[in-house]
Amino acid sequence: MRVLAIGAHPDDWEFHCGGTLLLYRRAGHEVVVCIATNGDKGSKRVPSRELAEIRRRESQAAADRLGAELLWLGFEDGALQDGLEERMAFVEAIRRARPDVVLAHDPDDYHPDHRASARLVRDALFLSMVPQFATESPALTWWPSLYWMDSCSPQFLPTDYVDVTDVFAEKEALLALHASQAEWIDDLSQTDIGEPMRVTNRFRGLACGAKYAEAFCREVRAAGGTASRLLP
Ligand SMILES: [Zn+2]
Repeated sequence: MRVLAIGAHPDDWEFHCGGTLLLYRRAGHEVVVCIATNGDKGSKRVPSRELAEIRRRESQAAADRLGAELLWLGFEDGALQDGLEERMAFVEAIRRARPDVVLAHDPDDYHPDHRASARLVRDALFLSMVPQFATESPALTWWPSLYWMDSCSPQFLPTDYVDVTDVFAEKEALLALHASQAEWIDDLSQTDIGEPMRVTNRFRGLACGAKYAEAFCREVRAAGGTASRLLP
């Protein structure tokens, strides 16, 4: 299969679905990671332009370590809109990735860029099959399956769990590549950058008999679904 994970910011896919992507790679599937914004607001002291370059380098290192292709859309951090320019960029990213499965932010997630990204993904998935909605790459001839990633909130109700225990240390190593985020997120959450991920994945693990698990909610549509489980 071909798997596409779309995150709003650098470090989102590592946090929300890094273990699942590692398992896809171990099973021989192709993975593409797409990052919508350049992350240029994620620091208390590094100027935005310099920060965007740092975050792109960190993201490339994480994608390389995963063995995935990186698609960098470069929209401004904190300002992602559900507009035509963004929609066309998402459609083109989906067509380039040619995914069977897409992993994306929960539509009710905490960050405005995450929520905008969710809406863009849902709409772009359909439009990626419409030939006269023209972008550089050809239209898809199938409807990829879509899973929402865990928002880590009590309101998120998973339909599917992935046991990531075997790859959890590697998942932590992927997140740690985002060294620029450690300082300000540690201040914000009064803990280290990895702790919210450990707690969330341990909590989801309790629900499915695993030490660590990632949770997803499958998007069910009018057509284009499958009865098969597509997660690892
Ligand atoms: Zn984010």
